[in-house]
Amino acid sequence: MKNHYQQTRFQQGATDSRRGPPDRGAEVAFAGRSNSGKSSALNVITGQRGLARTSKAPGRTREINFFQVMDDLRLVDLPGYGYARVSRDIQERWQRHIARYLETRTSLCGLVLLMDVRHPLKAADLQILGWCHAAKLPTHVLLTKADKLKRGQAKSALLQVRRQLQALYPDISIQLFSAHTREGLEAVWTVLDRWLDLAGKA
Ligand code: GDP
Repeated sequence: MKNHYQQTRFQQGATDSRRGPPDRGAEVAFAGRSNSGKSSALNVITGQRGLARTSKAPGRTREINFFQVMDDLRLVDLPGYGYARVSRDIQERWQRHIARYLETRTSLCGLVLLMDVRHPLKAADLQILGWCHAAKLPTHVLLTKADKLKRGQAKSALLQVRRQLQALYPDISIQLFSAHTREGLEAVWTVLDRWLDLAGKA
């Protein structure tokens, strides 16, 4: 499979999605709690170690970061949420920020939600899934750091979360992922290719 994502470049950071790049073409957003492994996943997906900064201090990325894959196709790194040491006020501001982006961005064609396989489905994750559902936004879940669990444990975590999610949102797809072993990488590319309409393009 051709990896279209290797040429991805940082395009722009924005504290307000209305100040991002022009809202045309197509983009896929990545959301997750701080420390969910979002930066590591973006780096592996694009084959670039330093594209998204992995967090030494969780919860520091406040901006929406736009990365250009090509032309008007983008990957978007949403601010990590749920970091306990950040005040409730700031947490709520981030949530509103993300909600507004999800509601208003017309080029947004899908959302990848990342959750640590050992700590899935926290309240804020469910809130994001609810917004995606309300916005009829295709959603794909990555259960990250799958290498941290034994095979059997990871598989049963997958089945359990899948069962819980399908009861609420039957259209959501879900898979195991590891930035360290690259487990699940091909499957993520396939989803991104489909959403960005890159499948079959040279
Ligand atoms: P972010 O805050 O969501 O961007 O998360 P990071 O990508 O910065 O990762 C948070 C921590 O989890 C870092 O210490 C990473 O090294 C670690 N991490 C991320 N992905 C994986 C993975 O697939 N496997 C393991 N074992 N650790 C990971």
